[in-house]
Amino acid sequence: MFLTISTTGTPERPATDLGFLLHKHPEKAQAFSTSYGTAHVVYPEASDERCTAALLLEVDPVALVRRGKGKGKGRGGAPDAALAQYVNDRPYAASSLLAVALSAVFSSAMRGVCAARPERAAQPLPLRIEVPALPARGGGELVRGLFEPLGWTVEATPVPLDERFPEWGESRYVRLVLDVPEGRLTLGEALRHLYVLLPVLDDAKHYWVSPDEVDKLLRAGEGWLAAHPEQKVITDRYLARRWSLTREARERLELVRLAEADDTDVEEIDNAVDEETDTDEQPVPLAVRRRTAILAELAASGASRVLDLGCGQGQLVQELLKDVRYTEIVGVDVSVRALTVAARRLKLDRMGERRAERVTLTQGSLAYTDKRLKGYDAAVLSEVVEHLDIERLPALEYAVFGSARPRTVLVTTPNVEYNVRWETLPAGHARHGDHRFEWTREEFRAWAHRVAERHGYDVRFEPVGDEDPEVGPPTQLAAFTRQDKNATPGNDKKKKEVRAA
Ligand code: SAH
Repeated sequence: MFLTISTTGTPERPATDLGFLLHKHPEKAQAFSTSYGTAHVVYPEASDERCTAALLLEVDPVALVRRGKGKGKGRGGAPDAALAQYVNDRPYAASSLLAVALSAVFSSAMRGVCAARPERAAQPLPLRIEVPALPARGGGELVRGLFEPLGWTVEATPVPLDERFPEWGESRYVRLVLDVPEGRLTLGEALRHLYVLLPVLDDAKHYWVSPDEVDKLLRAGEGWLAAHPEQKVITDRYLARRWSLTREARERLELVRLAEADDTDVEEIDNAVDEETDTDEQPVPLAVRRRTAILAELAASGASRVLDLGCGQGQLVQELLKDVRYTEIVGVDVSVRALTVAARRLKLDRMGERRAERVTLTQGSLAYTDKRLKGYDAAVLSEVVEHLDIERLPALEYAVFGSARPRTVLVTTPNVEYNVRWETLPAGHARHGDHRFEWTREEFRAWAHRVAERHGYDVRFEPVGDEDPEVGPPTQLAAFTRQDKNATPGNDKKKKEVRAA
């Protein structure tokens, strides 16, 4: 099993820096033992202009069979046919074994860590990767589908079954050459692509896929897998089609995708639409009117410790901070990017101590229960529910109404019926690209009643923005109040802590 990684350079930026980046000196041949055999790293060429590192994995077929038996599972968990244990392609074909060796031998490089040349580790390099024999179930087309979206130029040449007998046709192997010009990918990214995609192409994992494979996949897939067009094939094959794992992986990737999604235009759209429709009489943007409505509801509820769930860029948190009745304000969002903007907006780093003590911004997903959210007086979900896939909504419901259980919950969401009043909105379009659904008044009410009933809340509805006689208001608000006003362990505990402090 063989793979080479090459880069080019100049005397000022020598290609031999590859040795530093891989943490393997070009002048030394090195060997590392892995559970399946010995991995060798050698440099067939090492000059300022061009440097190539080769990883050669010498598989010990006996160790492979023993390990397979010891775990009671063969490749992909399926028991191998007796002969296949001894006669198989494992020693020759690049596969999940090579991926494991890659991560064992180049672990720092894969993580993008380089103490000797930290700046080089972050620099995208010109790279060429060659794998002479890559099992590719799905053929050249899949190989291209996997690597091209990541910036690679792909050459996948089918390997004939036997060169002496071309009429036998092609084997399931390809000779793979990947190229990327300078400025696109770092070495760490390139290695992470290989680590995931080699076993995906092989589609025959040699080890039992355990639940922590999802973590490994997500770590290696950071920055590229969430938006990859072949994400389904990748997760299915990488996780050996174990349904519970592939589902978890895809859900978590969905969160990552949301976190990466740019949500800056939420307010812009609302504002633009407002300017169009309400011109003279109503110069107040809908987003502002929504916040005003929320602030009024919060004030009426008597809350002082408030969660802003899906706080986005922190506009509501900023308003809450201005009012001293709010002694503790927690903004939660899944998007680190939104939180960074929020922190900047609030000038968190320059805020006086007393003020800073009142506010926390934290990353979290509302699709998971979170102990940190227990025991608050009120929670706001302003224009958030419609950002979740409808199948994920029950998880949010449980996390907020079942687990966090604040006394008051305020939920706002667009009223889809109103969309026809917006000339800027093409027919049938949601107000924001990331909206997974938009509800009619009836749908929203039905949902809210169901949630209230299930979790022991009363609910009431208020319009936000000018109500149209036919289609209703642009935004709908539901105000939930918990029925068991006194008995929430989380709340009582927190109160005690506050008193003690
Ligand atoms: N509440 C703000 C922002 C609304 S935009 C306002 O009213 O202006 C929706 C926000 O919900 C985004 O910031 C998005 O990152 C966040 N979000 C979407 N799904 C989420 C989830 N599962 N967990 C936490 N936040 C989420």
